[in-house]
Amino acid sequence: AKAEGRGTFRFFERAMDEAVHRKQRLRVGLRTALDRGELDLHFQPLVEIRTGEVTCLEALLRWRHPDWGMISPAEFIPVAEEAGQIMRMGEWALRTACWEASRWPDAVRVAVNLSPVQFRNPGLVQVVAGALADSGLATGRLELEITESILLQEDQSNLTILRELSRLGVRIALDDFGTGFSSLAYLLRFPFDKIKIDRSFVTGLPARKEAKAVIRAVVSMSRSLGLSVTAEGVETAEQLDALRQLGCQDAQGYLFSRPVPAAEVGALIDKLRRS
Ligand code: C2E
Ligand code: CA
Ligand code: CA
Ligand code: CA
Repeated sequence: AKAEGRGTFRFFERAMDEAVHRKQRLRVGLRTALDRGELDLHFQPLVEIRTGEVTCLEALLRWRHPDWGMISPAEFIPVAEEAGQIMRMGEWALRTACWEASRWPDAVRVAVNLSPVQFRNPGLVQVVAGALADSGLATGRLELEITESILLQEDQSNLTILRELSRLGVRIALDDFGTGFSSLAYLLRFPFDKIKIDRSFVTGLPARKEAKAVIRAVVSMSRSLGLSVTAEGVETAEQLDALRQLGCQDAQGYLFSRPVPAAEVGALIDKLRRS
């Protein structure tokens, strides 16, 4: 039994070595990923439930690793944040997304995810203004998605930056709502235009009463604050029905489309409009 225990220990030790090794390789690979053209943006539509129109597309980073193929942003974004690569990558994503969106119909916006780490850049507002100016995209067509974690900092600098971004005329969306600590108080203090309800609540529809209650509360709260609400991760027609009944405005998820390459966006907007 003792030998067996040691074997198990060795197994875990090796698994840990491999994880550390992989992370190290990812960190090194990320330094050159942009310059080697390995990064790409895919776009996933947000659809207005009432009309079926595409209101916005969210830009999502993709990395085609030369040896390992597609790597999920859920894995490489945290590595990029740690390794100090996220500023450059985030700026590239922002510029590319604005440029792509400048060729879409005027009524369609683009949403870009901002890492909390990007808020440490004192020039963030200028970066956003620059991306808009260079692409020619109308300011009101850019939406920035941020997560609750940036709201938790004691100092006011993130709030100041958010206010400046909002004053520029870009829209601010609170992403993954319900997974962190947000409360009504936060929503009042920060200049949000949209709330994105996390997929974990949508997954519970239509059966789970708790999920329904949370979404109903968020919708009614958002209405009185003048915010719009998007449900993330909508995969079934039943979930969409429940969301419609709950008064949710927009929906995003595999039911409508997976994220697609930029070249397919035009056709996707047309296809969704006809369906
Ligand atoms: P997120 O911002 O919450 O993006 C939504 C994620 O849910 C995307 O995963 C999307 O592909 C996935 N998704 C959409 N609909 C469905 C559905 O119906 N079912 C399921 N199961 N999943 C769905 P993805 O593309 O792998 O991105 C993961 C996360 O990586 C994003 O979560 C975001 O936090 C981060 N990320 C992606 N691109 C960027 C970026 O450019 N900058 C930053 N800072 N983070 C990014
Ligand atoms: Ca997002
Ligand atoms: Ca999200
Ligand atoms: Ca998420």
